[in-house]
Amino acid sequence: MSTYAWEKNVRKVTPYTPGEQPKLLSMIKLNTNENPYPPSPKVAKVLREFSADTLRLYPDPSVSDLTQALAGYYGVDSNEVFVGVGSDDVLAMAFLTFFNGKDPILFPDITYSFYDVWADLYGIPYETQALREDFSIRREDYFKKNGGIIFPNPNAPTGVAEDLSLIEEILKKNPESVVIIDEAYVDFGTPSAVSLIPRYDNLLVVQTMSKSRAMAGMRIGYAMGQPALIEALNNVKYAFNSYTMSRTAIAAGVAAVEDASYFEEICHKIVSTREHVKKELSALGFRFPDSRSNFLFVTHPDIAAKDLFAMLRQENIIVRYFDKPRIDDYLRITIGADEEMEALLSFLRKVCMKKEGI
Ligand code: PMP
Repeated sequence: MSTYAWEKNVRKVTPYTPGEQPKLLSMIKLNTNENPYPPSPKVAKVLREFSADTLRLYPDPSVSDLTQALAGYYGVDSNEVFVGVGSDDVLAMAFLTFFNGKDPILFPDITYSFYDVWADLYGIPYETQALREDFSIRREDYFKKNGGIIFPNPNAPTGVAEDLSLIEEILKKNPESVVIIDEAYVDFGTPSAVSLIPRYDNLLVVQTMSKSRAMAGMRIGYAMGQPALIEALNNVKYAFNSYTMSRTAIAAGVAAVEDASYFEEICHKIVSTREHVKKELSALGFRFPDSRSNFLFVTHPDIAAKDLFAMLRQENIIVRYFDKPRIDDYLRITIGADEEMEALLSFLRKVCMKKEGI
């Protein structure tokens, strides 16, 4: 029953549920795949020296400083880069731009839970493709008629990475569809599909500064692809909101891209913590696919994920639980700093010992 006379004209959507952002800073926050380290000191310097007076002026709508910095880093042309307010903004724009046909778009049944939300928002038909039991993609599932393809590599929330050969075969079989590879977690040990851009006019690679560059709070994402794809994205952006990036975000983004050595150092630290945590969790009987991201997707044969989630919460450790088919016995645990992971492991050791009655 509707309450308001105007309700019939309201767009009905089922929104995406973001991970919790608790106000309590003492919590060990391992639920939204943020980076435990601060952004580059060069970002801090730029923000310290930022002139508030310039905020009187609109930012550069073409965001040329940032697109040029990114183009330089990735070895592409600046007309092959599109930037937005986090990769969510870039992906939302890409759905609106490229997934405009009658055939369903395809993505895995277990994947980033924003894809079906955007598809529903824009009225895009979609068909999910079941991952194998080991959470890998069956490439043949993407050889049928479709209106576009999208998946993260490595996938979320599983952390499983696919070879570039699978991506290349999907690109070859789908010359009439735009194939979007969401590389939010690529910097933690997965080869990027950026190297395929010169050969495939239907490939769009989307990345973010939220994870590996430790700037989730600044909201910077970007897409790379051949100029025609980027032009199509820009046309839609200019039909929507020409000033998506703030002056502060542009300045901070450029500084982050320019500090390649800091970026590589923190990625390396997270990968080595991840490999250590993998060993420790295996020793406790946890099972998980071999993650190439900054999180682990874990299950335990003797402890229900939902119960463990609640126990961890009691200890002020927040992880992510998805009450969804096929993954409702898994927890997604972000790789934090060494001390945070040690606190997590020492609590899990106690829980496992209790289970075994030791
Ligand atoms: N893609 C995937 C697979 C993600 O997990 C996330 C993070 N929620 C995003 C894109 C969006 O990240 P952001 O908007 O912070 O760039």
